[in-house]
Amino acid sequence: MPALDAFRAAIGADHVLTDPPALAPYLTDWTGAYTGTALAALRPGSTGEVAALLRLAGEHGVRLIPQGGNTGVSAGATPPKTGRNAILSTARLNTIRAIDPAARTATAEAGVVLETLQGATAEHGLDFPVMFGARGTAQLGGVLATNAGGANVLRHGNTRDLCLGIEAVLPDGRVIDTLSGLRKDNSGYDLRHLLIGSEGTLGIITAATLRLTPAPGARATAFLALESLGAGLAVLNRLQDASGGLVEACEWLPLAMIEAILAAHPTLRAPLTPIPAHGLLVELASARPSDAAPVLDDLLLAGVEAEMAAGRITDGMVAHSEAQRRALWALREAVLPSILAAGEMLALDVALPLSRLPAFVEEADAVAAAHGLRPLLVAHLGDGNVHYTVVAPDGGALDPARMGAYTEALLTVLRKMGGSYSAEHGIGRAKAGLQARWKDPAAFAALCAVKQALDPAGVLNPGVLFPEQG
Ligand SMILES: Cc1cc2nc3c(=O)[nH]c(=O)nc-3n(C[C@H](O)[C@H](O)[C@H](O)COP(=O)(O)OP(=O)(O)OC[C@H]3O[C@@H](n4cnc5c(N)ncnc54)[C@H](O)[C@@H]3O)c2cc1C
Repeated sequence: MPALDAFRAAIGADHVLTDPPALAPYLTDWTGAYTGTALAALRPGSTGEVAALLRLAGEHGVRLIPQGGNTGVSAGATPPKTGRNAILSTARLNTIRAIDPAARTATAEAGVVLETLQGATAEHGLDFPVMFGARGTAQLGGVLATNAGGANVLRHGNTRDLCLGIEAVLPDGRVIDTLSGLRKDNSGYDLRHLLIGSEGTLGIITAATLRLTPAPGARATAFLALESLGAGLAVLNRLQDASGGLVEACEWLPLAMIEAILAAHPTLRAPLTPIPAHGLLVELASARPSDAAPVLDDLLLAGVEAEMAAGRITDGMVAHSEAQRRALWALREAVLPSILAAGEMLALDVALPLSRLPAFVEEADAVAAAHGLRPLLVAHLGDGNVHYTVVAPDGGALDPARMGAYTEALLTVLRKMGGSYSAEHGIGRAKAGLQARWKDPAAFAALCAVKQALDPAGVLNPGVLFPEQG
């Protein structure tokens, strides 16, 4: 096939995978729910090779599906079942080009695994503070392309808040390079921010310059029982006030979710007995030497005791060792596999204004109950992000006839409360139809215009963000 011959000539035959067994892992998302087809998986080794592949794809009418660690949860890296698609894997773009301790920046290529980058920055006493369960597999390009969030957004912002510059190849093969790490550059539209969160629809990110933070030398972690979900915000604010803003994570785990985790992971233990209706995992972190243990623990305890006296915390335990801290995080990071183990699911990743989060959960639970569904929830409480997932009470299949009505009812509640139907997981292919119906029409038209301007031939990631035209 001429297209494959051209790809082989551009990046070497060894890096154009077409054998079914070699190709198979690239065709299905990690949950196994989405599978597509592709002519090949292309594994370029440099930005120049990525540019050559994009030019050739345009010439030969092949559509490219960018893929990093393939840990995304919206099927954005999975090819569609139709069309002349090829996967463009960034796995070989895996060089950390520079760590600059004086400027507190790192410049790394798209295929560098998040945890590898964090290990390298730690050697300089610095951190790239994006924290989530898939950090051992997710790659920097995917993290940027999804504008990943995670547990530390409360303190450090989303990935976009930590990115100073980007190198990316546009659909026509031209390269944008803003890697010089400028902290100020008001010279027109910020293309970096256009590409971050674009889910591979506007360009292939090949490298980025990232802002690093001082690596925390001390952490204090606790698991608390809240009197109600609404109490969570007051507890968070008290801990922020008591510690001078050192809260790094604040994760809400309700009873049903904890029970599902323990059912799926018999080796994990409940941190409190009885298991609270509303559990809260909180962590303070500090890079200040004066905050080393036990100072940080004392700050945490001061806030917790004040909230116990106010009745908003009813029970709690503080991690007294790194092993205890890890056990608490193991519980949190077991959420996604536990939901998958609980049966067929429908997951929405919503964001609410902080003050409306408890009211949303109450109304949404009523919607779920009315449709005979069992909610399994977790929230990054400090940034108003609820992962609102439902399964069938018997762990079986969901009734497709009822799920459309359920989703519409839930999104109606969300819209009423000023929320977003995609907080951090992106739209991908999974939610492209929902996006077309629920995005503000003027904003959706503007998104379509940007896509049309940068990728008029639709070379990159068809069906992601926008439903594929039949
Ligand atoms: C256990 C678990 C926990 C998770 N927790 C969180 C969480 O807390 N917060 C969160 O935000 N996400 C979370 N995720 C989702 C996922 O890990 C993130 O979205 C991650 O950023 C995806 O990175 P990736 O390299 O795997 O990207 P992929 O899955 O390979 O791709 C994701 C999207 O980015 C595009 N893309 C990939 N690389 C590039 C590139 N170089 N240039 C342009 N486009 C590209 C793809 O086409 C696709 O649209 C979790 C996933 C798992 C499995």
